[in-house]
Amino acid sequence: MPSPLWFDPGLCLIGGNWVAPAAEQTLPLINPSDGSEICQIAKGDARDVDAAVSAAQRAFGGDWGRMTALERGRILTRLGQLVTDHVEDLARLEAMDVGKPLTQARADAVALARYCEFYGGAADKVMGDTIPYLDGYTVYTLREPHGVTGHIVPWNYPMQIIGRSVGAALAMGNACVLKPAEEACLTALGFAHLAQEAGLPAGALNVVPGLGAEAGAALAGHSGVHHVSFTGSVATGALVQQAAGQNVVPVTLELGGKSPQLVFDDADLDAALPFLVNAGIQNAGQTCSASSRILVQRGIYEQVKQAMAAAYADLTVGPAMDDLRVGPLISTRQQAIVSSFLAKGADLTIAGQGRILDGVPSEGAYVLPTLFADVPPDHSLAKDEIFGPVQVLIPFDTEEDAVKIANGTDYGLVASIWTRDGARQMRLAKQLRSGQVFINNYGAGGGVELPFGGVGKSGHGREKGFEALYGFSQLKTVAAYHG
Ligand code: NAD
Repeated sequence: MPSPLWFDPGLCLIGGNWVAPAAEQTLPLINPSDGSEICQIAKGDARDVDAAVSAAQRAFGGDWGRMTALERGRILTRLGQLVTDHVEDLARLEAMDVGKPLTQARADAVALARYCEFYGGAADKVMGDTIPYLDGYTVYTLREPHGVTGHIVPWNYPMQIIGRSVGAALAMGNACVLKPAEEACLTALGFAHLAQEAGLPAGALNVVPGLGAEAGAALAGHSGVHHVSFTGSVATGALVQQAAGQNVVPVTLELGGKSPQLVFDDADLDAALPFLVNAGIQNAGQTCSASSRILVQRGIYEQVKQAMAAAYADLTVGPAMDDLRVGPLISTRQQAIVSSFLAKGADLTIAGQGRILDGVPSEGAYVLPTLFADVPPDHSLAKDEIFGPVQVLIPFDTEEDAVKIANGTDYGLVASIWTRDGARQMRLAKQLRSGQVFINNYGAGGGVELPFGGVGKSGHGREKGFEALYGFSQLKTVAAYHG
């Protein structure tokens, strides 16, 4: 077994016990840097999900459900410290599993610790209101947990997404069932081991690895689940919403985007340039909030194009453990998807490209980071989510044009505005159809404290920040008549 594994990866966590899946079957986990098999993981199915939901229900009705917010917060804070103590271990697992360069994997482990700290501190600070009402009444609101929450997590940022959804759900007192992605689930398992060590009661967090169509679908449609949090593709998100709809339970969907950065003639280019490129190639572009569209005003278009092309020439791609700027994609399947998008760009101008390190394993899922120039806003590369290290440059003339192009896709997750004009900053922040707007910066994946989520096909509901605590709870109104 490779050294970074400090636990048996072939098991599910159900009711505080690490158990083999009911079918006693496993799935291979592949290292995308070289195509080798890392280990076998549990192939959980509907029976394991059912057992996990029952265990969560027992925890919710038992020790976990009876805990005070202060006690829950202390456990999460302890868990944050344990994650901090294991940042290197978790980062190595994530790098191996996702193909993420070690520095980026380390940042994700630090973020996971920060989510635990943030939600640990917030757990006992969620309050209701008192409401002025009729004479003789006292009316107040209580924020209560949903009960059992389902968390379906993708492979691109397992640690960050677990932190923001499971962290907030636990803080509010829900009992969680987590279904990590079949392509990358080692840090989910590592995190669950640390949660046990932190003193989380049995059943408060259950983990069932397995295929999306089996374990994922079973969790989304389980009648014992009271809230579903999903991050992933639009097509699967729609299926999850339909399945949860049968049980009339709320769903949070975070489905990706085609996030633009708008660069105006008066922008501070030295400040902007690192963000323009990094936000597109971080995690090899497999980031829901990746900035894949760079809209540049005509007056500085050539200058930005040349500067970004030079930055692309400096991008080297290689195995995660080499810790270069760009690693492999998650899988050869994703490599084929991104390659088909690159083929669609055959009629376009390539302004810049990175370089794949000589001698990388031929079984690795590598693609060449590519910057396309002068891309028509209605071209597939300018409208569809690629989920690879590919960016398009689109010139514009006026502020109105920029807003129209920026708002011209089905998505709306993140946008940024680079301009020194304060009035324009305020105008555009309102006009952009987007869940987050950054002014003279860009936050792909960052910002534990900042509410995050999309509009349109980017999804609905908000995670991160304090806002997530409202999503992972429901409001009860108490109206007392006392005369
Ligand atoms: P996916 O949406 O199918 O998978 C995400 C998660 O959902 C995984 O845990 C998977 O097991 C689970 N799942 C799959 N089918 C399910 C079902 N029927 N019911 C319940 N859960 C199910 O994504 P993918 O197939 O891994 O990737 C396909 C594309 O999705 C990518 O190319 C990319 O464009 C996009 N994507 C977006 C994000 C994001 O963060 N927004 C993350 C991953 C992938």
